[in-house]
Amino acid sequence: MLRFEIGITQPEPGWLQILGQERVYHQVWDKAFTEGTPRVMIVNHPLKDEEVPGFKGWVEAGGAIVTDFPNLARLVHGFKYDKLELLHYIVPAEHPIFTSVGLIELELPGYCSNQANVGHLDNEGAAVYCGNLGKGLVIGLPFDITQALSDERRGLKAFYWDTPEMPYEEVAIVNKGAVRRLAVNCLREACRQVGMPYVHLWYYPDFKRTAFVFRVDGDFAHKPEIDATAELARKHGLKLSWYVNTKAQGNLLGLFKELADKGDDIQFHCHEHKVFDDLEHNLENVKAGLEIMTKAGFKPSGAVGPFGHWNRNWDAALQQAGVGYASEFGLAYDDLPFYPILGKDVSRVMQVPIHPMCFGRLQQAHLKGDVLVNYYKRYFAARYHAGEPLFIYDHPHRVAADLPTYDSIFKMVGKASDVWQTTLTDFYKWWVERSKLEFEFFGEPGRYVVEGGYDIATAIHVIDGDREALLPLMSREFELDDLDWRPVRHEYPFKPDMLKTQKLARHLKLRETIWKAGRIFNK
Ligand SMILES: [Zn+2]
Repeated sequence: MLRFEIGITQPEPGWLQILGQERVYHQVWDKAFTEGTPRVMIVNHPLKDEEVPGFKGWVEAGGAIVTDFPNLARLVHGFKYDKLELLHYIVPAEHPIFTSVGLIELELPGYCSNQANVGHLDNEGAAVYCGNLGKGLVIGLPFDITQALSDERRGLKAFYWDTPEMPYEEVAIVNKGAVRRLAVNCLREACRQVGMPYVHLWYYPDFKRTAFVFRVDGDFAHKPEIDATAELARKHGLKLSWYVNTKAQGNLLGLFKELADKGDDIQFHCHEHKVFDDLEHNLENVKAGLEIMTKAGFKPSGAVGPFGHWNRNWDAALQQAGVGYASEFGLAYDDLPFYPILGKDVSRVMQVPIHPMCFGRLQQAHLKGDVLVNYYKRYFAARYHAGEPLFIYDHPHRVAADLPTYDSIFKMVGKASDVWQTTLTDFYKWWVERSKLEFEFFGEPGRYVVEGGYDIATAIHVIDGDREALLPLMSREFELDDLDWRPVRHEYPFKPDMLKTQKLARHLKLRETIWKAGRIFNK
């Protein structure tokens, strides 16, 4: 029996984060090449001279490697590269490694090479190397995965829409979700090339194709707005995830209690509406709010930072206060959950990213009514096909001010049977549970053998060449012919017009200043 697994030559936080998000079977491979060597390998340590012939021979015999440019120069004869002080972004191409990947925004040091052949760098040269070596395959990425995924910078960024005035928000500079998708696609492509299925634990329980969460930041909303929001969600059978501002809404805890009794999820936003730079103030803020909520009978396990801000001292305060998860688009957005990388360690507080565009930001760019509904429709469709979650957020005063538009948005996801309508807290709990599920997966001619069964309904996702299927996670044999295969769908969401977001970025600071000044003036 063949065991399908991916090798990684060095346990490194960035790659481990991705492998953990995927729950793909992997092992650290620092041994000699044998029959049992994984056929797909992430080579993420600098190759030494004496190692090169071994790796080269193994690829030539039919293995596949995902690595960086310096290692590529040692493996591929004549491959030359230069260092780039700043790699702004990678423009995707219609190639399997860019499936469901838009622009990859980095603003980090990187590499360039005339021999790269897939996708484009911001300066127009090709970005990624993907080529055969003997019977095998080598893929080289022009940047460092761990550096990209541990990046903590945030800045104003535009989100593409086909009008000149695009919505924008202050978010993570590196779109980590896109980095992950590129990396995963490279592994999938490597598996495809060596004829090995790509096998991982599916992202959702009960064979759902995606999950929907509507996160409501209570902020400074009043009872009528909260009531209207809750009522609308209820009409569509949706539970809401509320995040309470304990200072502004201390007198509304009774109302939140009622919502909790009706099935909504009540968690913590802030006491002072600010993420501070230092630990002391963050801790004071978090503890004050959590104490108020605990006294009122709530047991919050999640917190979301004001303005989507995140820094290490906010994270440290949440860790000290025993918070289980957080959600800040200043660190990450449009990604699967992960534990933030803090140097050599990772945080104990899980990050559960959402999409950062709320009504306010869309309206600021003059999107309203049907156009605004279309924004979410397009977003949901792209995410659905990519198997990624649909987590959006807003504020009660905005929902209450435009109930018909929200009605249309909730209608799109409320009744969909293959969408898991859940809360951020329940998704967090599922993700913890998912991380503990163990299974073995083997292949024999014509069948797969799975070992590991659980009471909960969950699935193993198998991509075999150009087809994919979900298998129940239970100990049994599966005849390949009996599986409900569907063709792998390659979506390429990028179009050249999207590069306008990059040009726009330079003007966003000025726009934000004018907008903020206008808000003060209008008050
Ligand atoms: Zn807020």
